[in-house]
Amino acid sequence: MNDDKFSDLKIANILSSVKTIAVVGASNNWKRPSNFVMKYLQRKGYKIIPVNPKEAGKEIHNELCYASLKDIPISIDMVDVFRKSDECLELAKDTIKIKAKVFWMQIGIFNSEANDLVLKNNLDCIYNRCPKIEHSRIFGELGSGGFYSKLISSKKNKLSNNNDNSGNFFKSNNIETLSIHAGTSPDPITGARSFPIYQSTAFAFDDSEHAASLYNLQENGNIYGRLSNPTTAALEQKIAALDNAVGSCCVSSGHAAQLIALYPLLSPGKKIVASSKLYGGSITQFTKSFKSFGWETDLVDITNYDEIKQAIKAKNVRALFAESLSNPEGVVSDIEKLSELAHNEGIPLIIDNTMATQAICQPANYGADIIIYSTTKFLSGHGNAMGGCVVDAGKFDWNNGRDFEKLTEPDTSYHGIKFFETFGNLAYINFCHASALRDLGTTMSPFNAYLTLTGIETLNLRMQKHMSNADEVANFLIKHDKVDSVSWSGFQKNKSYQLAKKYFKFGFGSVFTISVKAGFDGAKKIVENCNLFSHLANVGDTKSLIIHPASTTHRQLNPKEREISGAEDNVIRLSIGLEHSDDIIKDLKVSLDNL
Ligand SMILES: *Cc1c(COP(=O)(O)O)cnc(C)c1O
Repeated sequence: MNDDKFSDLKIANILSSVKTIAVVGASNNWKRPSNFVMKYLQRKGYKIIPVNPKEAGKEIHNELCYASLKDIPISIDMVDVFRKSDECLELAKDTIKIKAKVFWMQIGIFNSEANDLVLKNNLDCIYNRCPKIEHSRIFGELGSGGFYSKLISSKKNKLSNNNDNSGNFFKSNNIETLSIHAGTSPDPITGARSFPIYQSTAFAFDDSEHAASLYNLQENGNIYGRLSNPTTAALEQKIAALDNAVGSCCVSSGHAAQLIALYPLLSPGKKIVASSKLYGGSITQFTKSFKSFGWETDLVDITNYDEIKQAIKAKNVRALFAESLSNPEGVVSDIEKLSELAHNEGIPLIIDNTMATQAICQPANYGADIIIYSTTKFLSGHGNAMGGCVVDAGKFDWNNGRDFEKLTEPDTSYHGIKFFETFGNLAYINFCHASALRDLGTTMSPFNAYLTLTGIETLNLRMQKHMSNADEVANFLIKHDKVDSVSWSGFQKNKSYQLAKKYFKFGFGSVFTISVKAGFDGAKKIVENCNLFSHLANVGDTKSLIIHPASTTHRQLNPKEREISGAEDNVIRLSIGLEHSDDIIKDLKVSLDNL
């Protein structure tokens, strides 16, 4: 029931203009979502009137409860409904009678007759949304988790609780603009235009009530640096914006992103099906360390759809995992096809988009449910900050019967709330913060978040230059007589060329491998002969990088595993940087010629 029906601007306008809200189905049990929502909205300055025949005459959150909308003696701007869908038509009629302006149905609630009726009477109608979630997403406290609002602002006071700031927003869907502005409005206290580094371990509470609300997940906000930090949250918003997703969770490395991404889905005996063409470190992480947690991995040929279909049929499979553009070989995944296969089995598709980045590919637009990054690479972009990120497209139905129990069953570490029931399409990303980061502790440092924020501002420009340089270098190498093959997907005869054309906006990545005729020793020699290229184990730096995987990154794999992951003895991996292409080519030419 997730939908893109309501623009953030529309929601922002509604939440800015209404002052009094009647909550129908208000519960006096503090563990129920309706009780959360009332308390949150009250703290944000709204007048809340509870409506519930069973509680009529009693108080909930210090407000007298009424049996029905018609009994309320003051004028009501908005009616927020926590009742079953089939009760909504009568409630809509009452809403019109009391002259409210907005009829709002909570997550999971929809009644088309009620919707039509209120629209015909010129009221606004919102459904399958929660005003608490929408408010915290759009007007949220500084750094309260990585939820993405599609609105940006260069005004100093965008973030305030006065509910009167919708005029300060600017809306953009362009990567160039979002990479600079999303999540990083001027600091509301100081006006600092470069987003500050909040180098603080803990964050002061307003009072005990506020502290309790934060610990109960009734309100977003910062508690302790292991779970969230304002600088990191700004980065989370930026990344979510670039992925056209609902939220993200930044962590200490790309490997940590994989751990945090899978933790909400897996438990001992559960399994993922993953591409055999993954970054070498990921293969080791999945098949060795995750295996020791009891998390199983089946590796498949990601271009063999029959094999994938068979593998994901097993009852204990909880996700399909692939890289959009594989490291190092540049194999391109058919994201639409993979998402169709995964969704047919009721499992999410996870795409590692590290090598492509959002500048050339937004996997969520092709059906990927979760996107992960090593931000260490192109996103930070300067080889100076480790980091990772888990991104939630917010489209997956966790209640589909496949037993995503951490998201659908009562969570005893949070007084028995069910994440999906309480947070709707923010359930997964909330769980990543509130449980996975809390307990696994792989937090990104605010300083690294700051460096990554700065890096992302130029992502688009850098990626274009990385790729045009890669184009020239690949075309030089393919003609060199000491080179056997070049794995760059920009060559028409490359098996990935058509998919790259379909999924990538411009260019074909800037990391690829070459096979050289001179074998293991010759390959090592070529690496050592380079003077401009840096010999090291990284990719996605401004500097051009080179490595011989068989003797380094893939050294621990056996020959069969090396062959499967494209790291045979005579293979060299290149990451093409931003130097002048003439110089990059000259360095490789001298190195090859001197062999
Ligand atoms: C580097 C990399 C990772 C791991 O990221 P770290 O930041 O090194 O932990 C995962 N996937 C891909 C595709 C990578 O290139």
